[in-house]
Formats: sequence, C-alpha cells, structure tokens
Amino acid sequence: MPQSILTLQNIHKSFDGATVLDGISLSVEAGQFVTLLGPSGCGKTTTLRIIAGLEQPDEGAVILGGADVTRLPPEKRAVNTVFQNYALFPHMNVHRNIAYSLRLRREKKDVIDKRVEELLSIVQLEGYGRRMPAQLSGGQRQRVAIARALACDPQLLLLDEPLGALDLQLRRQMQVELKALQQKLGITFIYITHDQEEALNMSDLIAVMNGGRFEQIGSPEDIYERPATRFAAQFIGQSNILEGTVKQAMEGRAQVELCPGNFVTVNGDFAPGERIALSVRAERIDYGNAAQYGFHLTGAIKLHSYIGGVLRTTITLPTGQELLITGANPVSTYPAGCTVQVFWDPAVAAVVERGRAQGAR
Ligand code: ATP
Repeated sequence: MPQSILTLQNIHKSFDGATVLDGISLSVEAGQFVTLLGPSGCGKTTTLRIIAGLEQPDEGAVILGGADVTRLPPEKRAVNTVFQNYALFPHMNVHRNIAYSLRLRREKKDVIDKRVEELLSIVQLEGYGRRMPAQLSGGQRQRVAIARALACDPQLLLLDEPLGALDLQLRRQMQVELKALQQKLGITFIYITHDQEEALNMSDLIAVMNGGRFEQIGSPEDIYERPATRFAAQFIGQSNILEGTVKQAMEGRAQVELCPGNFVTVNGDFAPGERIALSVRAERIDYGNAAQYGFHLTGAIKLHSYIGGVLRTTITLPTGQELLITGANPVSTYPAGCTVQVFWDPAVAAVVERGRAQGAR
C-alpha cells in the first residue's frame, strides 16, 4: 500500500471570527506532486502555513511521516517552504544563501561546500556560487531559493506560488524544470497556485479549493474530465452548465430533460423530478446542419470570436441560455444568426450538482 507522508485531518481555522478553513482533509503519498488550486483568499497559504507549523489549526491534526506534528514548532518538522518572493538574503552570495541552514546545523565546511556544489548542479547553476542575488535573473533567483530549501533534505517541500513573479515564458520553462527536479529527487511537493494550466501541467494530484473547503481532490484528468462540482467545472477550463429535470429513472441511469422535449441519458442513480446540473466542456461540443452523433439541441449562432488557435462560438438555445463552444478550425461556415444543431457525446457530460431547485446557485 502506498505510504502516506502527510495527512490533514479535518482542519479548521478562523481569523478574528471569520472561518478560513472549514474542515479540510487530505492524504498525500510520498513522492507525489500535489497542488492546492483555488482563487485568491480561498485558504491555500493558510493551509501551507499550518503544514509548515507557522500557524496552529483551531481543530484537526497534521500527521507527517506517521507522527502527529500539530503542536510541533516549524523547526521540528522535516518540511521546508519556498515563497513567491524568493526571500533570499540579499547581502549573502548564492553559496552562502544555500549553505545557510547547513551552517545553522554546524555542519563541517567541506561537507557544506560539497552539498552546495551538488545543489547548484541539481538546479543547473554550476559556477554561480559567488554571485550576489541582485546579479541573478528572476528564474535564477528562484532556483537558488529552491536549492536553499532542499539543502537539509526535507521530506516535504512546500511551494507557495513560486513562479508567480515570473513572466509567462519563463514560468512555463520553470514548470517543466521544477517537475523534472521533483521527479528526479523523489521529494513530495505541495504546491500552491491559482493558475489552472500550471496545476494541470505539473501535478499528480490537485485539490481544488474554494471558500476554505476542498471542492474536489483528484488527478488532473479526473478534475478536468469529471468535475465533481459546479465550481470545479467552472474554475478549470471552459464549461457549459446545463440544468434539467429527471423525467425517468432506471437503475444506474436516468433520462433528463434539458430543454422542453430534449432528453439526455445520464449515468447514475437519480429520482424522478430531481433537478440536476451537467457540465459539458466547450471543446467537446460540435455544431452543424445536422447532428452527427450523441445528444442534440437546436440553437442559433450568436457570435464567433477568434482567440488565437481556437474559434470561440456563442450559441443561443431556445431557453435563452448561451452555450460556449471552442473549435480548432479558425473559420466557421455558419454566420451569426444561422440556426444549427448543437451536439455532444452524453458520456462527456459530468453531473456537477443534484437535487437543487431550478436556477439555484
Ligand atoms: P492568495 O492566492 O491571494 O494568496 P490564499 O488562498 O492563499 O490567497 P490565504 O492567504 O490562506 O488565501 O487567506 C485566506 C483568508 O484568510 C483571507 O481572507 C485572508 O485575508 C485571511 N487571513 C490570512 N491570514 C490571516 C491573518 N493572519 N489574520 C487575519 N486574516 C488572515
């Protein structure tokens, strides 16, 4: 059985009476790259600070390597953190920055020198030991910060938006480097971002956070292909949410009326009359003169917009709801105002909400 290196058990945290973490639980296996993904203010940094021991939970437990560390101070935990702003010591050169924690531990000079050289090689900065932080680019500074955090062999590396200050191109390059480094070293990473592309790119496991709760925990594919909640579907990728009513329920599947007279089959056990919301990804919907497969509806093209690489089309359904469709073909043969058939494979739709009244959010 895979070994859990970190377990969060029902963590609650409030600041000044306001709930910031509302009972979050998570189990992380050794060697996994786990990302906390969510909008600003949802509690990601607070979660990381609780794992690091920089903040105490009001309730719940932090189990690290099988031991309850909830009340242990940060320096007693085999955890290190890399922050967005690098937090390098500006008056120390790269070598001394990386050596900092080893010197605190009073390691011998030759041991420190060897380890620093090793770490410089790991982060591909051989020969940079004498440079001052001000003489480095943003990406190089971030690599030094990572090398410094790795110096004392943490079991767990916590990374709080470490690439947030970099431009998009460097950010993408560093994503690839960081992931490769994590795989090479086999260290468990807990990574914070509000950038969905970054999360999908790098993670083994993503915890989608919203308002101090985990909405869904799963692999990138799970989260993308099978969003469990309306929030998860809308925060990651472009989704259409369609609401309908269960008209007929059989064992393991149901007929759901999405528009008057249009029924789609949904897998799962439902009750007749139940309201459900389905999510369908924008790139999974097709349209044309006639439906070629799957479930179809009639709609009218409202507008097309070319957004570099994809054509985004808005189609209005008879109910007034607008569907967003993206396609790789930059030109559409159907101008605005055209009536078309909109269709998709029912298997690509995910149930993201059930049992609520129509129009409820
Ligand atoms: P961001 O992506 O913007 O960094 P986040 O998801 O990391 O956001 P947190 O920094 O965990 O969010 O903050 C969650 C909430 O807790 C916010 O409303 C924040 O204002 C509040 N908060 C965090 N730390 C404190 C504190 N020490 N005292 C009072 N409120 C705090």
